[in-house]
Amino acid sequence: MPEGHTLHRLARAVDDAFGRTTPEVSSPQGRFAEGAALLDGTVLEGAWAHGKLLFVDFAQDRTLYVHLGLIGKWFVLPVDPPGSEPPVVGEVRLRIADEHHVADLRGPMACTVVDQEEVARLVDRQGPDPLQPVGAHNDPDAAYRKIARSGKTVAELLMDQTVLAGVGNIYRCEVLWRHRLHPLRPGRSLRRASWQLIWDDLVHLMPWGVRTGSIITLDDVLADVRARVEAGEAVEVPREFAVYQRTGMPCLRCGSAVRQKVVAGRNLFWCGGCQRRT
Ligand SMILES: [Zn+2]
Repeated sequence: MPEGHTLHRLARAVDDAFGRTTPEVSSPQGRFAEGAALLDGTVLEGAWAHGKLLFVDFAQDRTLYVHLGLIGKWFVLPVDPPGSEPPVVGEVRLRIADEHHVADLRGPMACTVVDQEEVARLVDRQGPDPLQPVGAHNDPDAAYRKIARSGKTVAELLMDQTVLAGVGNIYRCEVLWRHRLHPLRPGRSLRRASWQLIWDDLVHLMPWGVRTGSIITLDDVLADVRARVEAGEAVEVPREFAVYQRTGMPCLRCGSAVRQKVVAGRNLFWCGGCQRRT
């Protein structure tokens, strides 16, 4: 399942391609025909994400809500040549298109038209998103209150979208390593200051995921990417992590072996040496 930065990046792509225009909206597969008919011919005002939820606002208080789930795919592609009709490949639930861009959605967990009340309800059920500004509906303290009274492991809580929105397996493993926190300690053992470090670090790291399309969690990689971006150079981000998928390899900080365990159906990775339980 994509992590939150992917959804924010997709929202930007939809916004850049179709924002403040009136694209064609259709459902080639037919399963979203009624919803598409509601949106077709109205102004697409903008797209945004909260965690792994994607919203595309249209005029007349109509919002398209999309959740990709495990297998959903959605890309914005150029139409080549402009003005031509791109062929429909596979089961396309939703197509947004104009003469220059086409965005075909396949296999989503959710694709539906909702109103503002429903948008608010969906967002309020989610935890705060480190990629959104802090505010009444995006409050990291609310996440800490849930963590601090939970006996579940910190690893599980960080991936629970109702606690914290957008973080997936890679960011959670890596951010815990960055702060030497053991993933299997219970939420209620996490101090307020440690939570603040996690939140602030995600706020620092995740925008680079949106910017580059790649998860960056190593300081030296980030420094290099930042320098290249600032120099206006093309950036290819190496797929390097501290602990994620590095089972048995030496920790980059202390040299101890990286450990692995399946927790709540997902592989968890951490350093057996420098990530402390208390
Ligand atoms: Zn270590």
